[in-house]
Amino acid sequence: MGASAVYPGSFDPPTLGHVSLVERGLAVFDKIIVAVARNPEKGALFTVDERVGLLKESLGGFPEGRIEIDLFEGLTVEYARSRGAGAILRGLRATSDFEYEFRMAMMNRHLEKGIQSVFLMADHQWFYISSSTVKEAASLGADISDLVPEPVARRLRGKFPARRLAQGPASR
Ligand code: ADP
Repeated sequence: MGASAVYPGSFDPPTLGHVSLVERGLAVFDKIIVAVARNPEKGALFTVDERVGLLKESLGGFPEGRIEIDLFEGLTVEYARSRGAGAILRGLRATSDFEYEFRMAMMNRHLEKGIQSVFLMADHQWFYISSSTVKEAASLGADISDLVPEPVARRLRGKFPARRLAQGPASR
């Protein structure tokens, strides 16, 4: 059996930054289990089942058998152990991610020494992209189609019909 990693997150919604991290993670690991955290979350735009569906559609192009999309609840290290994964994969964007990720990695190491936290730097193209900024921009009518996979863009357009930004303020 090859080395596998769990890539946990909220993925609300998946962005091209997430897709890029999976792609690059596959250069390191034989298999990546993308795992949507079921933990109760206020203000989520998509249900966990919708996010799983969006990830399946968005990651469909990767070789079958090397990617799996799943849901989990509770501690990431316990989930990783239950799946036989030796690593937790996370992305690092601007230094603002570091502090939080460092604390999480230390706690996870405390809980389970046999599972390594592995970080990949975000691709420069997606360095400033997060699910929350994408959601915010989309909710204000911005075109986010070059920041998220096509199925996500479609769903966001359904939720937030584009405003005609080019027209400027509405005339009275
Ligand atoms: P969480 O709520 O667990 O942070 P996210 O869905 O926001 O869930 O992020 C999941 C993981 O993907 C995190 O490790 C995060 O750093 C990483 N990530 C998010 N956006 C990007 C991006 N643009 N480029 C690379 N990694 C990213």
